[in-house]
Amino acid sequence: MQTLVDVHCHLGQSVRGSMSADGERLCALLRQAGVTHAVAFSIEACYGGIDIGNAYTLGEVERHEMLSAMVVAHPHHRASSERWVNDGVSNPDVVGVKLHPALGQYDVASSAVMRLMDEVVAPSGLSVLSHVGNETSQVPIDKYLELASRFPGVRFIAAHLGVGVLGIRERSIDAWVDKPLENVWFDMGTLRAFTTGAVEGLLDAVDEDRICFGTDAPLYVPAPFSRLLETLDISEEARRKIACRNALAALPRLAGKAGASPQA
Ligand SMILES: [Zn+2]
Repeated sequence: MQTLVDVHCHLGQSVRGSMSADGERLCALLRQAGVTHAVAFSIEACYGGIDIGNAYTLGEVERHEMLSAMVVAHPHHRASSERWVNDGVSNPDVVGVKLHPALGQYDVASSAVMRLMDEVVAPSGLSVLSHVGNETSQVPIDKYLELASRFPGVRFIAAHLGVGVLGIRERSIDAWVDKPLENVWFDMGTLRAFTTGAVEGLLDAVDEDRICFGTDAPLYVPAPFSRLLETLDISEEARRKIACRNALAALPRLAGKAGASPQA
């Protein structure tokens, strides 16, 4: 079995049952897609239900060897966020911190986020994955790269190819040309990935060390993303990097996890 690491999926309840998952359902969907290890975060916590959402997620992740977690932090739930991040450092299941400025209703460039980053997230040493998209003024790619440039010691993943479903697909390419950063990676968990050339175009701009496999399951069915990765017109070396090596670079705490080791 090839190693395939999904850096972006969710546990918890979304707007309908079919787009929701406990650990068992999420793992079944991921196995169908050939995923061997996945990083999950709470749906509810993205909206602000930090305590309930993170607690549920860590409980489900503990029961499934193929899952790791990110804890969701929120600048306006400061005390809770600080507790989850600090506890996360000593919990081997936790490999990063998730931000969702769009659902959480805050601006990624706000002073509250800067304080959270300065005082809590950066000192933790955990990597950060944030929703990024053209559809929201809270976190378009240029604002996210600006945040990442202020914290060069923190590894950042920009979700959804840095653009999401809407708007101009080249926005993340143009933002990268302006501000290429050693500490930033992208995930491909967006329907936009299925528009012909979208992944290859970003790959050309940011290079093959910067894109990680991601599915946003159970909001999306994950299996088509695996098929997409198998069929992209890219080198086998690039395919292997996207499948798992880039994830290990962006999320070093994945090292040694079940199903996360690259093939020799
Ligand atoms: Zn997501």
